[in-house]
Amino acid sequence: MAIEVDEIQLPLTGGCACGVVRFEVSAPLLSANYCHCTRCRRRSGTGASANARPEPGSFRVVAGEDRLRAWKPDGGFEKWFCSECGSALFSRSPDDPERMSVRLGAFDGDPGIRPTVRQFIAYAAAWERIPDDGLPRYPKSAQAD
Ligand SMILES: [Zn+2]
Ligand SMILES: [Zn+2]
Repeated sequence: MAIEVDEIQLPLTGGCACGVVRFEVSAPLLSANYCHCTRCRRRSGTGASANARPEPGSFRVVAGEDRLRAWKPDGGFEKWFCSECGSALFSRSPDDPERMSVRLGAFDGDPGIRPTVRQFIAYAAAWERIPDDGLPRYPKSAQAD
């Protein structure tokens, strides 16, 4: 499936809605998905959360690190957000901080990648039909994590 993506400028930049927290990604993103799980639905207030996996070591917070807070649910990635405005920014493995994903909606411009799978559709919102976009669908996780 060919998806047209404009040439991107590195580093990719992004941040929260109030602008206190800013981040950069210094390498092209590796993969992206839509997650329909209950946690993503609740923490984002949407039917699905679009997330991208950065290359290990390429993500860094450049402003507002002291304002970041995390929800650390049992058996799941830490969900980091801005404590000033509540924007969801990224998630991170509690065991290995290099295993993380960044919320696509937090990027300033084109992040240079498109979601290619839909996961946890067994938990999809009742009020929104999953789009007929041809993406493979997984009832639960599309990957080992
Ligand atoms: Zn903020
Ligand atoms: Zn999820």
